[in-house]
Amino acid sequence: MELHIISTGQVWVDPGGPFGLVPESLWKRHHTVNDRHLLPMELNCLLIKSEGQNILVDNGLGDKLNEKTKRQWNLEYPQGTLNENLANLGLKPEDIDIVLDTHLHADHCGGNTTLIDGSVIPSFPNAEYWVQSIEWGDAMNPDARTSSTYLADNYVPIWEAGQFRFLVGDARVTKDVQCVVTPGHTRGHQCILIEGGKRPMLYVADLASFAIHFQRSAWVTAFDVEPLETIRTKSKWQDWALDNHALLFFEHDPTMRVGELVKDGDGRLQILAIEDYQSKI
Ligand SMILES: [Zn+2]
Repeated sequence: MELHIISTGQVWVDPGGPFGLVPESLWKRHHTVNDRHLLPMELNCLLIKSEGQNILVDNGLGDKLNEKTKRQWNLEYPQGTLNENLANLGLKPEDIDIVLDTHLHADHCGGNTTLIDGSVIPSFPNAEYWVQSIEWGDAMNPDARTSSTYLADNYVPIWEAGQFRFLVGDARVTKDVQCVVTPGHTRGHQCILIEGGKRPMLYVADLASFAIHFQRSAWVTAFDVEPLETIRTKSKWQDWALDNHALLFFEHDPTMRVGELVKDGDGRLQILAIEDYQSKI
């Protein structure tokens, strides 16, 4: 098995999104805003090679944004685009066998599709795209809160091309890779559990957007549709991470891509950064 973090870009967002009800005096101890009071947020995905399959987990905002939306997100590519970073691993879009969509919010699945000659088509022509069926149902029926992030162009063309596999509950991808349902941020949100390496790993997605969300049980983003469910789900995976010395991959954190949950001398939870993740997997 091989595993690589790949950047699909970086955005600058209002801190009210990731930190919701958390007072600024508290989150400011962990994160710094720029002179426009915006926080940097990464769009880091995973490329897993397992049993001869090239598996892409999430794919960022994609390349279909118009100039206005690009400006709203303040989208930049300090570490290159998704396709550039796949090419650095010797991969073309046609080489991706499976795309795992953790959920269908625009900053996670915008790269599912691409704009070619005025039509929106699947970015990965040979891939099967896996998503929870409950997530698909919610994305097809957005409400006043979710309609700005459930954008049909990111997933309807995949369905039209017959490339979706709709999951009902946890689902095994390969011997080492599994989708596990982790409701709260959305009802059909899933994390990706990777075993078979030296230590078990979890691609946390928006169960904890930043590392500090994983440490602080009550810290939940403004976008979570069922925040109390997020807290229950998080508590279960905090226990799992402690028991298994797991490596945790954070999709959006600007300062910690990989971390480990530990208890300090007073029994309080703490997240420690892991810089050289390749030597740990
Ligand atoms: Zn997100």
